[in-house]
Amino acid sequence: MKRILMIVGIVIGLLVIAAVATVASAFVGRQSITDGFEINGIRIVKDGIVSVAFVPIGTGEVALIDAGNDKSGKAILAELARRKLRSDAVKAILLTHGHPDHTAGILLFPNAQVMALGPEVALVEGRAGAHGPLTRFMPVSPTGVKVTRTLQDGETVMLDQMPVRVFAVPGHTAGSAAYLVNGVLFLGDAADATSGGTIKPAPWIFTDSQAQDQSSLVHLDQRLIQDGSDVKAIAFAHSGVLVNRLTPLTAFAQQNQ
Ligand SMILES: [Zn+2]
Repeated sequence: MKRILMIVGIVIGLLVIAAVATVASAFVGRQSITDGFEINGIRIVKDGIVSVAFVPIGTGEVALIDAGNDKSGKAILAELARRKLRSDAVKAILLTHGHPDHTAGILLFPNAQVMALGPEVALVEGRAGAHGPLTRFMPVSPTGVKVTRTLQDGETVMLDQMPVRVFAVPGHTAGSAAYLVNGVLFLGDAADATSGGTIKPAPWIFTDSQAQDQSSLVHLDQRLIQDGSDVKAIAFAHSGVLVNRLTPLTAFAQQNQ
């Protein structure tokens, strides 16, 4: 009996270690987020584990890419204050996807249009859950957020004078989006940058389908090359910006075709 208990104990211990290692592996080896990093007039603000991008779209007006992990919006409000702007200066929030660490600050900006791809709307609004190995256990309840503009794959949204190209990159979630804004490609959680400057796919444990995510990244690379899109840098939600054009995504695509 004692022996059986010991074996059960060891097995449980090993399972716990495996689970912790799996979650930890999603975070180690990432290029860290640099708070205040600027490229082409777009500024990255670090909000704990996630980044929010500030895109100037007109005089005294900004758009955000994602809305952070903090319901009180401390980092976002501090950046607005630094610009001598109030919260009504945020005219649009472009969501890369609906996981709660990207949507927490939305309700602080009632003046902002909230934009997401169609397949993501129910997740953003809290009417449906995610489907990843871990994310499927997150409770589903209304977030109070309303998506006010549903985006289409391939469209160009005009934010005042600033064009934003919209790409569907399903996999991390069903309606994950990438945005190309003023030469910066935002991949959200569809990918991460490694400390070595390469791209890796979304972490399996938080992702609906890593296989679909990988093929979305390959397809996105093909589309951007075919279009002759001018990509200067690639930004990620949980890791730092890579500034050597489309090269890291193309290298990823070549290895994963
Ligand atoms: Zn996510």
